[in-house]
Amino acid sequence: MATNAAFEPYEFVDGGKVVGIDAEIADAVCNKLGYTLVIDDMDFDSIITAVTSGKADFGMAGMTITDERKQSVDFTDPYTNAVQVIIVNEDEDKVAGADDLKTAVIGVQLGTTGDIYVSDFEESGAKIERFNKGADAVLALTQGKVDAVVIDNQPAKAFVAQNEGTKILDEPFENEEYAICLAKGSELTSKFNQALSELKSDGTIDKIIKKYISE
Ligand code: GLN
Repeated sequence: MATNAAFEPYEFVDGGKVVGIDAEIADAVCNKLGYTLVIDDMDFDSIITAVTSGKADFGMAGMTITDERKQSVDFTDPYTNAVQVIIVNEDEDKVAGADDLKTAVIGVQLGTTGDIYVSDFEESGAKIERFNKGADAVLALTQGKVDAVVIDNQPAKAFVAQNEGTKILDEPFENEEYAICLAKGSELTSKFNQALSELKSDGTIDKIIKKYISE
């Protein structure tokens, strides 16, 4: 499994081990199929190449299904939903909603859907700062180097909890679905879908998600 373990609660390092919702779902899928899970931690932007080159059998990293990615990889059925949100400093008066991003300095994680969405705003004068880690984008926000960070809602909550003086704007941005990506035409995809469907029906996936997300 290729992942980027800097995306709590989906994948993060705890006690020297990659843990989180994705790590546990992947482990449950592999157990069902008789595989041993090995996790390879890399930049988010390298995951699809790891999968297309055969370095990894699959990628799982809170990864949103997009049409562009579908041109390089196959996705399983979605296993959960997410939404992009905007993080700002508590005393921010320039960015109060998505519309204000059009002229703001925005921090994102390189190659993520947040990056893709806000890139459209470059035309209207927004400046995009791209970081390898969401945490580095949030650090730049606390240092006043960017006006806002666009990132997935659950990691956003973790970042805001860890960075006093930051908040998430009420207005959500884009709805998305997370899925596992595999090489195009991989025979594993239908096996993974079967395993995911069993783990959905027997409540395993819900239980794993509730372990990490309280609401
Ligand atoms: N869901 C976003 C995407 O797929 C971000 C994923 C991540 O940063 N791990 O692009």
